[in-house]
Amino acid sequence: MTTSDAPKQPVVCVFCGASGGNSPIHLAAARALARALHANNIKLVYGGGTVGLMGEVARTLVSLAGPSSVHGIIPQPLVKYEQNHDPNDPKQHRIDESIYGRTTVVKDMHTRKQMMAQEVIEGGAGGGFVALSGGYGTLEELMEVTTWNQLGIHSMPVMVYNVDGYWNGLIDWVKSAVSAGFIGSSNAGILVEALDADEVVTCLKTYKTAEGRFKLTWDEN
Ligand code: AMP
Repeated sequence: MTTSDAPKQPVVCVFCGASGGNSPIHLAAARALARALHANNIKLVYGGGTVGLMGEVARTLVSLAGPSSVHGIIPQPLVKYEQNHDPNDPKQHRIDESIYGRTTVVKDMHTRKQMMAQEVIEGGAGGGFVALSGGYGTLEELMEVTTWNQLGIHSMPVMVYNVDGYWNGLIDWVKSAVSAGFIGSSNAGILVEALDADEVVTCLKTYKTAEGRFKLTWDEN
């Protein structure tokens, strides 16, 4: 992936649930993360939904920093599931960008993930990938950008915002995988943990790229 010469503002890609979870602590964490992004002049790229934690983080940041602070990228097939519309009003098929920020509709998941990663890379230092609590979709996206870091496709921070121990199982699994020889010890630190929203921003700034990764680019034959 390439970088542009445009003036840089850090971009954080947030992966998180299309649901809000059963405890209000997860929605509160989404709002806290949006406030920390605003306080540090960081832009958000996210999955473009209005529902669950996704909607909460986008709405909160737009309410603080305006629509230009948020870019939602959503695959066309997900629009009807992840953007709330009035089913009685077929004309109301566009997300309200004054509430959720700029939205781009793309053809598929891979296009979305590549666009998100490109924006994070172009935003430069201080940006990265952060997973709030979520389900299969969140985990899949988090593991994809972790793998892209391991392969050297990008060197941006990858972290979990571990709300109330939500990601403890994943953190323990990484340790088991290192012990069992399936993740190299030098790559154990690709995925880092933050316990609150301010720590997310600190970890983004202090993140150290793991040594010994591949140096793959998508353009190689
Ligand atoms: P979830 O964490 O399951 O609530 O999903 C959060 C979001 O991740 C979903 O709403 C999708 O937009 C996104 N997502 C990304 N990749 C996938 C995938 N392979 N399957 C399902 N959802 C995905």
